[in-house]
Amino acid sequence: MKKLTIIGGGPAALMLAAEIDTKQYEVTVCEKKKSLGRKFLVAGEGGLNLTYDANLEALTNQYVPSEFMRPILQQFTNQDLITWLKKHEVPTFIGSSNRVFPEQGWKPIEVLNKIVDFIKTKNIIFKLNTEWTGWNEDGNLIFENGETIESDLVVFALGGASWKVTGSDGSWRKAFQDRDVRVEPFRAANSAFEVIWNKNFINTHQGKPLKNITLSFGDLRAKGELVITKFGLEGNAIYALSQKIQDALLKEERVVVHLDLKPTMTIEQLMTKYQKSNHSKVTDILKTDLNIDRTAVGLLKHFSDKETFLNQELLVKTIKSISIVIESADELDKAISTLGGIGLDEVDDHFQLNKIPDTFTIGEMLDWFAPTGGYLLQGCFSMGFSLAKFLNSSENDIG
Ligand SMILES: Cc1cc2nc3c(=O)[nH]c(=O)nc-3n(C[C@H](O)[C@H](O)[C@H](O)COP(=O)(O)OP(=O)(O)OC[C@H]3O[C@@H](n4cnc5c(N)ncnc54)[C@H](O)[C@@H]3O)c2cc1C
Repeated sequence: MKKLTIIGGGPAALMLAAEIDTKQYEVTVCEKKKSLGRKFLVAGEGGLNLTYDANLEALTNQYVPSEFMRPILQQFTNQDLITWLKKHEVPTFIGSSNRVFPEQGWKPIEVLNKIVDFIKTKNIIFKLNTEWTGWNEDGNLIFENGETIESDLVVFALGGASWKVTGSDGSWRKAFQDRDVRVEPFRAANSAFEVIWNKNFINTHQGKPLKNITLSFGDLRAKGELVITKFGLEGNAIYALSQKIQDALLKEERVVVHLDLKPTMTIEQLMTKYQKSNHSKVTDILKTDLNIDRTAVGLLKHFSDKETFLNQELLVKTIKSISIVIESADELDKAISTLGGIGLDEVDDHFQLNKIPDTFTIGEMLDWFAPTGGYLLQGCFSMGFSLAKFLNSSENDIG
């Protein structure tokens, strides 16, 4: 029987372990922390968003690059994940935003335990507190505790490089670079971005949301929500643009995003409402007739001079497009996910490294991007499933 060593104990690795055929492989999972799935548990703190309910094309289009993810998602779709979770006694529901969560009352640890408990029914060895550090001269795996493992096949699922406390610290980068594998530098994705606020504004509006807005950068538009923080802006609308903003920040010192406070209304519709108002104070017109809340009014004041604020036409145009200067991204460690990692051209269609035979990499350690909304976990689960399917197939000549 071939020996398969899976390194990492996050969602990508767990799906692979759950699906791998233990009649064909003698499987060991090595995780450096003393328990599995720590980032999965952190992900659950703000509501465990397991996947997103959309048709496969719409789902796939959220990933960058979508061509890389398409065949992977086709093999294990969002519907497949929901069915798979149900099979493992984890009921889910689709929230109003199309995000898919565990049924109400389910804690993230209970979801994780259901998956882990199932894997434990299989003939799989778990080695916790076991940190992989590289390869020895014979190409065998070496570990921090002095252990060496000789394995026919190795799958790395070491995660990205944020929330180091969970074990996903990107410290694996050098070992791969030493073997000539291109690993792009890590950058924050799905992260907050810095905006310089004036003191009065931030003291009054810190922590307040801007709901049902659209944020755009270049030709990319994201509908959703923003939260005003002391540091700047966070929330799903800016997260969705985070990769493009980060790419631009590599070339420019700062970039400008455009906020539409009333995406469902045209400038003409807003003008008509404005002109029909019985109020004389601009703030009253905005709040009562245009239904713009206090924080959004504060933001309009922050970004318009007096002349603009008192001029109907200019003000309505500003409502549709407030220019906000972004200075930088927040610290990498605070990001929900990371850009960078192993270049996709370093792996073949089955995640096998071109330069290290019989060695595979899956999950967030590969260089792909998806916004928040369940896409990240779906992507990682789909990769784990797809690799298991390939390794289980009698047609491969691996190992
Ligand atoms: C705050 C937060 C909220 C999130 N919310 C969501 C959400 O709601 N929905 C969603 O889809 N996604 C969410 N995510 C993202 C999601 O959790 C990750 O994309 C996903 O966990 C990545 O899975 P992975 O298996 O690739 O890696 P990880 O989950 O990062 O697991 C990698 C594992 O490898 C281990 N490891 C690393 N190096 C070594 C080594 N050298 N030796 C041995 N083991 C090692 C680590 O300890 C870790 O356990 C969130 C992330 C964060 C931080």
